[in-house]
Amino acid sequence: VTAPGFTGSSLDRADALREDSTALETARADPRAKLLRLDGLEPEIDGDGRLLWDDLSAAPAGAELVLLGLEAGEPRFAAWHPDAPPGARSPALFHKLGLMPFGEASTYAGARSVLDWLTRHRFCANCGRPAEIFRAGWGRKCPSCGAQHFPRTDPVVIMVAEHRGRALLGRQPMFPPGRYSALAGYLEPGESIEEAVAREIREEAGIRVRDVRYVASQPWPFPSALMIACVARAENDDIRIDSRELEDAMWVDREGVRRALADDPAAPFLPPPPYAIARTLLTAWAEGA
Ligand SMILES: [Zn+2]
Repeated sequence: VTAPGFTGSSLDRADALREDSTALETARADPRAKLLRLDGLEPEIDGDGRLLWDDLSAAPAGAELVLLGLEAGEPRFAAWHPDAPPGARSPALFHKLGLMPFGEASTYAGARSVLDWLTRHRFCANCGRPAEIFRAGWGRKCPSCGAQHFPRTDPVVIMVAEHRGRALLGRQPMFPPGRYSALAGYLEPGESIEEAVAREIREEAGIRVRDVRYVASQPWPFPSALMIACVARAENDDIRIDSRELEDAMWVDREGVRRALADDPAAPFLPPPPYAIARTLLTAWAEGA
């Protein structure tokens, strides 16, 4: 399986520095230290789709510096400001993501998710009082009750059900015209990955599956999902969609999927974008996964 989008960052996360105040001070004073240039939470990129970096002096007054990690030993930070609004998703953002090498998008995804988490989780979930930032931005702790809180990652299963050489694909009303993709849904407390895959396919399309196999995973920083891609064997093929979740669903054979991935105008659907793991999953399935 080829590496999915939003993976392959060149940064060393340098976890050991996060709670070492002396090392953090040294990193902040390092003349090679750089600050990720963002427009709100959107990336700023050059003509090759690479992230842009400024000196730390570019951080606005009152901002907290989040240690993203080390690039070949050089500190890399992002600035979080208490006035920051929660992250939005614009068409321009997704256009930029399409131009970015996956490793650059991976560095961006980590920064975006942790900055957005700091904005969305200002208060202690245990007692409701304001919580302070610690661990160089990778956590909050509550001065009132002592609880510690860490940036969340929400698991999502995304999967292809397979029946006699055909893959089950669906489309949501929000998709661009013609696009179909793998079905997906949040994993719930008390479920295994395999159980979540089976439940989502049954709920959304009325298909029963067994033999769930893991294929690959990717972070999806909107705001903080982990996409877990799987293939499962379908026991029936009579689709009954849940119209609250899906606008349509259909079976597509390998040739149809290969045509879609090759941008063939005669393909039965338009595929998901390259940075989405649905594309990785369909590519793996078309190649026999
Ligand atoms: Zn508390």
